[in-house]
Amino acid sequence: MTANNIYFCIRVPPPNLPDVILFSEKIESVASRIVQAPRRHPDMNISDLLHRALRHEWLTPEEGVFLFENATTAELMYVGNAMRYQHVPGNTVTWIIDRNSNTTNVCIANCKFCNFYRRPGHDESYITTIEEYKQKIEETFRFGGEQLLLQGGHHPDLGLAFYTDLFKQLKDLYPTLKLHALGPPEVAHIAKLEKMSHYDVLKALQESGLDSLPGAGAEILSDRVRRLISKGKCGGEEWLDVMRAAHQLRLTTSATMMFGHIETNLERMEHFAAMRQVQSEKPADAKGFLAFIPWPFQDEDTILKKIKRARNAVTGDEYVRMIAMSRIMLPNIVNIQASWLTVGKQIAQVCLHAGANDWGSIMIEENVVSAAGARFRFTADGIQQAIREAGFVPQLRNQQYEYRELPQGIMQQELKAAGMIVD
Ligand code: SF4
Repeated sequence: MTANNIYFCIRVPPPNLPDVILFSEKIESVASRIVQAPRRHPDMNISDLLHRALRHEWLTPEEGVFLFENATTAELMYVGNAMRYQHVPGNTVTWIIDRNSNTTNVCIANCKFCNFYRRPGHDESYITTIEEYKQKIEETFRFGGEQLLLQGGHHPDLGLAFYTDLFKQLKDLYPTLKLHALGPPEVAHIAKLEKMSHYDVLKALQESGLDSLPGAGAEILSDRVRRLISKGKCGGEEWLDVMRAAHQLRLTTSATMMFGHIETNLERMEHFAAMRQVQSEKPADAKGFLAFIPWPFQDEDTILKKIKRARNAVTGDEYVRMIAMSRIMLPNIVNIQASWLTVGKQIAQVCLHAGANDWGSIMIEENVVSAAGARFRFTADGIQQAIREAGFVPQLRNQQYEYRELPQGIMQQELKAAGMIVD
């Protein structure tokens, strides 16, 4: 499906459904007008499931698969969009200025979808120096950012002291800098090296300056899938345990999914179910997962493509449906982010009418997903323009999803069109 087809879908409501573009009614009133349209399954029908989703009931993974495989795109978008306004009323779409930098590209995990890493001792391996961080951080400040999203490989020799020293040094140099850093697999790797609990590793990192934990490395949480694509990384249950420990420490986190490779639809839905379960276990005064961000596997030159013949076959239509399913299956996560980096401007704009309320970062720097073929790029002006074109008001935010004033006189990135798609 093309972006134009999708725009047609959202402008022309499904039979007996009201127009979702101007959605402003009470959900009960909207739900009452969803057509009763039972489809083939002895125990499930589309209409019942959509009504239950609108009431924030947890659909089972099997019910999610039934909806995903049988509901029309217009129906999923309609309900995803309605749930978006339940969680985030108003016409704003948030975005952030930060950069995705890397501590090291040395990694022993050997994920089959990753072109970023280098084995220990490789000529192109590196550990980022403090001088390099200074340049990156000062440039980020000039572009209006205040945060580093800092991640790296599973370096066999870098233990907890490396990261606590690094975070302290960066915070001493730049007290206002926010560190959205590492991810559950890196925390699990450090815990293994140090023979410490996830909680104690995270506590030491937090005391050294860690502000929040990205949801990296979730891919698909099924251990069947992880054995095949990322065997050297923590398993699905360990990923979730790190997040549970982060929530105990009141660290805010995000949840992600990289889909469209070797997983089944049921494994996608079980992934949603695991995320919402962990979110439901967080302490009452913790924010837990602030956002969910799904993106399609990028396949360019990856071993997963060469050996397992996995291709990125996710169409624009399927991505939009997955954004809507994210809303439907995750009624206890407030923000859903569209990944413009992997799907481009037009599809990400459609996602804003299917349940997404956030456009993520301008990503001053990004090296991991880009190494597997993600080519899209935006400046701060460009991202705001794209949000306006889709009919929304852009609003700069911080990592806590609090609104920020756009700093005056910020520099715009100079994006080179060669090798990139600049929108
Ligand atoms: S995705 Fe991360 S953990 Fe996996 S090989 Fe790449 S750098 Fe290592």
